[in-house]
Amino acid sequence: RPAMPRPEATRVLVVANQKGGVGKTTSTVNMAAALAQLGQRVLVVDLDPQGNASTALAVEHHRGTPSTYDLLVEGTPLAEVLAPCPDLELLSVVPATIDLAGAEIELVSVVAREQRLRKALYADPRVSEQSVDDAGEDRFDYVFIDCPPSLGLLTLNALVAGAEMMIPIQAEYYALEGLGQLISTVDMVRAHLNPDLSISSILITMYDGRTRLAAGVAEEVRSHFGEQVLRSAIPRSVRVSEAPSYGQTVMTYDPGSPGAMSYLDAAKELAQKGLRPQEGQHA
Ligand code: ADP
Ligand code: MG
Repeated sequence: RPAMPRPEATRVLVVANQKGGVGKTTSTVNMAAALAQLGQRVLVVDLDPQGNASTALAVEHHRGTPSTYDLLVEGTPLAEVLAPCPDLELLSVVPATIDLAGAEIELVSVVAREQRLRKALYADPRVSEQSVDDAGEDRFDYVFIDCPPSLGLLTLNALVAGAEMMIPIQAEYYALEGLGQLISTVDMVRAHLNPDLSISSILITMYDGRTRLAAGVAEEVRSHFGEQVLRSAIPRSVRVSEAPSYGQTVMTYDPGSPGAMSYLDAAKELAQKGLRPQEGQHA
């Protein structure tokens, strides 16, 4: 594939929505894989104790594997907890083990507990706010943080670590329910902890173009969030949902499928959005 220009600095994207099952993990791994296929250096941080992103990217995540838990709680350097994704040369993963379930509680008594992930990421020279001229070949272009389905301390760490959010929204009846709570959390984080945070991308997932309901929900999301919504919606597709059971993303499992092609389009759009949100965006 033709090389795509690298972003000026590392873009740290938080994939969050406190609702479960909306496509956070699926979108994280497929967007990450698509960007890696486009020649970008990508890191996925699995911040969900379930470890679904680790499974989908085929990296070890049994208890005892160096993981996000060590990064957050033990202060282990990033270099010691990341693993290469076997399928995609430019993609690395910090896996999540079940230990991470305890981190939510264990971090409560730690100083600057909501800054742990940010500090851990930026302590590594490959995660850089510097422009590309100053960065080495091995600098990460994108870091995706796959959040658990809650707004606890783990998600808070992600919101403090990243400058951008990608919110997957499932095209179904209750799609917008709970988004108010997410947006007020983002406002709170922006006011007190991370003024740079913006909602850069909203991705409509599991879209079924044959139903009026899905079309209606997509329209509602677009009228509410405008330019923040990526033009490419991800269709509901069995190929997308079965890829993880083969330890693959749909990008390698079935690259010609509609699901893979829409993730590729969405990844290109995300890349084109650049570093800073446009003027006049919501939130
Ligand atoms: P979350 O991380 O938000 O909990 P997941 O990404 O795990 O959500 O997705 C929830 C379920 O929906 C999973 O079983 C996944 O395989 C399935 N899924 C996600 N996206 C699609 C899609 N485009 N088509 C079909 N199934 C999907
Ligand atoms: Mg998930």
